[in-house]
Amino acid sequence: MDCIFCKIASGAIPSKKIYEDDKVIAFHDLAPQAPLHFLVIPKKHIATLNDLTEEDRLLAGHILFTAQRLAKELGCEQGFRVVMNCNELGGQTVYHIHLHVLGQRSMSWPPG
Ligand code: 5GP
Ligand code: ZN
Repeated sequence: MDCIFCKIASGAIPSKKIYEDDKVIAFHDLAPQAPLHFLVIPKKHIATLNDLTEEDRLLAGHILFTAQRLAKELGCEQGFRVVMNCNELGGQTVYHIHLHVLGQRSMSWPPG
């Protein structure tokens, strides 16, 4: 499958990896939008948030839990933002789900 994040998950494409276990991998974003900007992805290919199934419930929780644990470990105890873009209207450009974690600056609302 020609998916860039599957290739990152398998190690075929290098990344600045922060964390990995049997289910997820976290790595720094190539084009950071904040002093800290990393992505948490499942190793399983799931194209969009709309494609989550009942059997992915635990995996989805694991992605979120990993995001907050790493954010705290990387100095964002005071706060940070998580974002998951879904489909074209939601601003998704890579069709393998990923949770953005942005931190170490104050965030504004609403997002663009
Ligand atoms: P999306 O727009 O789909 O929500 O986010 C995709 C993100 O993946 C973007 O922030 C983009 O900078 C990042 N990205 C795209 N290709 C690569 C890559 O090859 N390596 C890394 N580390 N990040 C990537
Ligand atoms: Zn994939």
